[in-house]
Amino acid sequence: MNLTYTSTRGHGETVTASQAILKGLADDGGLFVPTALPKLDVPMTSLAEMSYQEVAYEVMKLFLTDFTEEELKNCIARAYDSKFDTEVIAPLVQADGVYFLELFHGNTIAFKDMALSILPHLMTTAAKKNNVNNEIVILTATSGDTGKAAMAGFADVPGTRIIVFYPKHGVSPVQEKQMVTQKGENTFVVGIEGNFDDAQTGVKKMFNDKKLAEELGAAGFQFSSANSINIGRLVPQVVYYVYAYANLVKNEQIRSGDFINITVPTGNFGNILAAYYAKLIGLPVNKLICASNTNKVLFDFFTTGTYDRKREFTVTSSPSMDILISSNLERLIYRIAGNDPEKNAAMMQALTGEGEYSITDEMKKELKDFYGNYADEQETAEAIKALYEDTGYVIDTHTAVAAAVYKKYVEDANDVRPTVIASTASPFKFARSVMTAIDSKYSTLDEFELVDELVKISNTEEPEAVKEIRTAPVRHDHTCSVDGMENTVKQWLGIK
Ligand SMILES: *Cc1c(COP(=O)(O)O)cnc(C)c1O
Repeated sequence: MNLTYTSTRGHGETVTASQAILKGLADDGGLFVPTALPKLDVPMTSLAEMSYQEVAYEVMKLFLTDFTEEELKNCIARAYDSKFDTEVIAPLVQADGVYFLELFHGNTIAFKDMALSILPHLMTTAAKKNNVNNEIVILTATSGDTGKAAMAGFADVPGTRIIVFYPKHGVSPVQEKQMVTQKGENTFVVGIEGNFDDAQTGVKKMFNDKKLAEELGAAGFQFSSANSINIGRLVPQVVYYVYAYANLVKNEQIRSGDFINITVPTGNFGNILAAYYAKLIGLPVNKLICASNTNKVLFDFFTTGTYDRKREFTVTSSPSMDILISSNLERLIYRIAGNDPEKNAAMMQALTGEGEYSITDEMKKELKDFYGNYADEQETAEAIKALYEDTGYVIDTHTAVAAAVYKKYVEDANDVRPTVIASTASPFKFARSVMTAIDSKYSTLDEFELVDELVKISNTEEPEAVKEIRTAPVRHDHTCSVDGMENTVKQWLGIK
């Protein structure tokens, strides 16, 4: 089957998977969605015997049908190799009756490595397939993790450059250090005087600016996106849910066909959307549990049917989820609107214009696969402490939001079936919040003393990513205002 992609705001035009990956965002500002949903065509008993790389091929080939077997296997082999500190790539750890799917064993010890390790390879392969000669400029807004993971993926990949905007005062010290020490002649990092939504809005504006695209083209460049709106990010994320399920079958923790729940700490709605796609292609998933932090715009949406971004933005201990506009939700809205681009576009316009939109009762019924809730700062800290004291297992703040919300779900729904929690960052990445949640006595220690203590109490090794930043020199020291983003890009590319 040849699967094509169409825009959530378009008029039915279609592109191939490789074209969708190259473009990132559709010309009309919509997101690319598959025009049909493929079905997993390998028995679970076979998937259970496969390596991560083999499962990745079986899942990704369903979505990226214009890539040859050789191309896809090549991309997979180059992505999921020894940059991961475990051969299984995404281990499943049982603690306190649930399964933590550890997605943080890559370059930057957070789950975005899962997709961003492969995206550059998918993109350069896609460029070759489509005879693109322009240099590809990856333009990225980050709430902390994407930026570093994207740069780690794209650094020194020929034919690409990457520029990353992050909220100067909205990321953790470790996240910032990781970004400003990034190597690679083709990488550029800028702190903006604004929050993540400002950064994301600024980046979207540049993507939608036809005049800017022409200026770029004339100079031999074209933009693409490594943000989680790119289907080249989304598709690799479907893989680990299938892999996790296959693992549960393999270890006889479930039987093939049993339904499981999946809990995902959510920001931009990319990771949980991938879990939803896994369900749609046939993975037996009961509820998708959408966990938010104090910025609970998604919880309110699931409860009321109104998405309202007009509210205070709070900086929390789970900064990668501090988001008021969850871009990937648009793909779900489009789907529950009956794949109707006009209905969807009207809602997205209302979100931009009035700051909110409401879905119909009919659409609301289509949300039955989801359960939304949130955990505040105290509940998040308590989840870390309780799990550590009960089991010795240490989780990061984002994963803790999910763990706390999962507890609320069990109480609300009285449903105790096997559950996978997406564990999206290593506790080492958020050592201060994690350690002080466990015991306030750690609050006087500096970042690296905290890491040393975490090594002791968690009985794990210090990740390479942390060792590196102890000594790495700062290579980037650029800031700009929200209005100055476009000029910053042009200057770096040498465009007048
Ligand atoms: C990005 C991120 C999230 C949120 O994922 P989305 O796909 O944006 O919903 C959660 N946890 C961590 C650690 C992240 O980096």
